[in-house]
Amino acid sequence: MRIDGQCHCGHIAYEAEIDPDRVSICHCRDCQQMTGSAYRVTAAAKAEDFRLTRGTPTVYVKTGDSGGRSFQLFCPKCGSPCYRTGEGEDADEVGIRVGTINQRRDLVPKRQIWCRSALPWALDIAGLPSRDEE
Ligand SMILES: [Zn+2]
Ligand SMILES: [Zn+2]
Repeated sequence: MRIDGQCHCGHIAYEAEIDPDRVSICHCRDCQQMTGSAYRVTAAAKAEDFRLTRGTPTVYVKTGDSGGRSFQLFCPKCGSPCYRTGEGEDADEVGIRVGTINQRRDLVPKRQIWCRSALPWALDIAGLPSRDEE
């Protein structure tokens, strides 16, 4: 599936070919902190199918428990997390932050991981009182 996207201010833009079956939610603590939210939603692309079309993102290097490094790319102007990649074998894959994808309404997560660190309420919000707008 062909997608494109940009950060909130538009400084960073990209396009990619993704597999819509590889959209996932991550409840890990790193994702909670780096999104400033309850969990992260990511669409996977092969590195060769991802292309930055505008701007230069800033890189935050995160070192995992296993010592592997992952590169978190975000907009230096508005701070929107845009995508991630890694090193070694992990460099072949780009994880695109779904909130920046223009076609995000069509992307439905197919799995969720790190549920053991999920915020207790985050696995079931369907029962909350709901409004169409603020
Ligand atoms: Zn921006
Ligand atoms: Zn995570």
